[in-house]
Amino acid sequence: MTDSARASSVPACGETPASAESAEPVQPARSAHPIQATLIEALPEAVCLVDATTLRVLAANSAAAQLFGLPAEALRSRPVRELCATPQDLCFWDEVALGQSDRIVSDTLVTRADGEVLPVTRSACRVAAADGDAGVYIVALHDRSSETRAERESEALLAGLRATLESTADGILVTDLAGRVSAFNQRFAALWGLDAEVLVRRDDAALRSCMQRSVADPDAYVERLAAIEEAPLLQTSDVFKLRSGRVIERVTLPQCSRGQPIGRVYSFRDITARLEAHQRIEQLSHTDPLTGLPNRRLLSDRIEHALAMGRRDGTPFALLFLDLDRFKHINDSLGHQLGDRVLIDVAERIKSCLRQVDTVARLGGDEFVVVMHQADVAGAESTAQRVIDAMARPFAQGGLSFTVTCSIGIALFPNDGASVDELLRHADKAMYSVKESGRAGYRFHQPRKDVDLKSRMRIDHAMRQALAHGRFRLHYQPQVDCATGRVVGAEALLRWRDPDLGEMAPAEFIPVAEESGFIATIGDWVLAEAVRQAAQWRARGLDIVVAINVSALQFQKTDFVASVARALHVSGLPAKALELELTESILIQDAQEALARLQALAALGVRLSIDDFGTGYSSLGYLKRFPIGQLKIDRSFIDGLPGDESDAAIATAIISMGRALHLQIIAEGVETEAQRRFLRAAGCDLYQGFLFAPALDAASLFALASATQASRPLQLVG
Ligand code: C2E
Ligand code: MG
Ligand code: MG
Repeated sequence: MTDSARASSVPACGETPASAESAEPVQPARSAHPIQATLIEALPEAVCLVDATTLRVLAANSAAAQLFGLPAEALRSRPVRELCATPQDLCFWDEVALGQSDRIVSDTLVTRADGEVLPVTRSACRVAAADGDAGVYIVALHDRSSETRAERESEALLAGLRATLESTADGILVTDLAGRVSAFNQRFAALWGLDAEVLVRRDDAALRSCMQRSVADPDAYVERLAAIEEAPLLQTSDVFKLRSGRVIERVTLPQCSRGQPIGRVYSFRDITARLEAHQRIEQLSHTDPLTGLPNRRLLSDRIEHALAMGRRDGTPFALLFLDLDRFKHINDSLGHQLGDRVLIDVAERIKSCLRQVDTVARLGGDEFVVVMHQADVAGAESTAQRVIDAMARPFAQGGLSFTVTCSIGIALFPNDGASVDELLRHADKAMYSVKESGRAGYRFHQPRKDVDLKSRMRIDHAMRQALAHGRFRLHYQPQVDCATGRVVGAEALLRWRDPDLGEMAPAEFIPVAEESGFIATIGDWVLAEAVRQAAQWRARGLDIVVAINVSALQFQKTDFVASVARALHVSGLPAKALELELTESILIQDAQEALARLQALAALGVRLSIDDFGTGYSSLGYLKRFPIGQLKIDRSFIDGLPGDESDAAIATAIISMGRALHLQIIAEGVETEAQRRFLRAAGCDLYQGFLFAPALDAASLFALASATQASRPLQLVG
């Protein structure tokens, strides 16, 4: 309501206006008629009666007294102008006095006795008297202060709501029950890409069709919207896609007034970025960021799934644990960036060897695992071979062309394990055994003889007791010169009879000692005992070489060379009378370190021999580089001699290669005369085996060897 006057000069109730003279305030004061006073007292609004002639208050009711903050008596006889707070009212009463106006209705202000200014709606209207008297003005005042306060409050509230509406990140649309738009914010328009003009026009039909056109699936959208609109009390949320690809979450609530739905509020939120981030997090938590392959976590899930299927219907599957050979060299020489590219290339190559149903995951570094569903031995083997072949193609990075090989260990369900961990561990171990025997190949998990951990722990404990209580002994297997039949050396082989476990074969307890690391301690004992024994034989006139087996762990100990030197020094045995039998895995593990150590041993004058030759990596490269003096052909190639063609070919090849490299060749496991003859003819220098003698105790060895040195045992020379 504005404050503008709606004053009218039309005479009230069709009466003639009061004359200018009758408005003169010189008339004596008079009182209102008692009836008039009673009448106005009954009215709820503030009412005053004003003498139209004197323009003084004749009477005021209690409501008026309350409004002005004065007793009704104090109002009586007061000039009405004294009660005016605005120029407009003063002006009205001036016009009344001049007979120009006798009615006014407008919003105005009054000042209370305490100085407070109140907003009121005031109407004044003349009631003429029948006797020609100018009559009275009835002035009614309606206190608007509480309304004004409420208006201001609701304006402030509205402004606050609008600001809230605009400041929210969501698009907001408010409609009535018929779906007509009653409010929206700018974000709503922006989110939907709505035409500003449509919104300004408030063209609901155009707005609806514009929204329909924006969604990716308009039919579903329309259907859903109809369902929402049909249920005025429905509170719901859903997600849909816009044609632009953005994903929108819609939350809708009924808008209620006094408990009744009067419309509906929709809030629209663009959740595209949130979804993308969520998907990315999901993806990252399951994939390897470099290659995009599943990571260890997802791999576990896949194996679990395969296990569940396997347990349910017996479907077998295979795990291939793959590790690149010497990847550190690639990283060191090409740098990590190109190393990463090689890994990506490797990932692609592995994938190209698999079926759709199989999974390849990267565990980290250069380790990959393949899960092959419904795969048996043959399936796993052919895939492993395919992967090895795929790797054989040269890699090219940073302008260099090079070869990357890999070692693959295979574990099969159900034979090799019943859990993710067990299967992975077995595949990993099988992979390691490929590495140890020269890399670039695949191998299946071989169940150990001493299967369970408990018995391994028992053996480990018993071994430590055995060493402490002097239960280990050394037996010596003679090494015989093929040409002369003389014993020229003896291989020290560990023997252990345990009071509880009985006679223990090295094949049973040495792997346990290697696993626990105790082998290094045992090795020290063997070294000391063997050189002590050899020195004693020597003192008694038997000049033979004693060979000891050195395990990788023992060889890798930093003080290994020093301990050999010390043992020789303590015993007084010349270094040339000691031979160390090393396996090929020792030379491969850290070639640089191994070379330095071998050179130090060679410098001491100790002989170096490669045991079980032919079963490992068999690289001609290291034979040339390392100061090796002897190759020992593995028993497995001697077995089939002389009949087996491939054994014969391998044995012959090793012998001629060794000769070309000026290495001494010894054959182990010679059991028959035919084998010995074949070897001798092929040019083998020495042999050992049951044909001549098994490993003997020190005294027997001494006797047998001394005998061969004294006389030539002709029967053995063919
Ligand atoms: P190895 O070094 O290859 O030793 C030769 C193995 O072949 C010995 O088995 C020996 O008794 C056996 N052998 C010798 N001649 C014949 C034969 O004509 N036919 C057959 N079938 N076997 C023959 P052993 O003593 O059971 O030792 C097995 C393995 O245990 C050794 O293989 C060696 O790798 C390891 N080993 C033995 N003693 C020690 C040791 O003191 N330290 C280390 N680190 N390993 C040892
Ligand atoms: Mg040996
Ligand atoms: Mg051997």
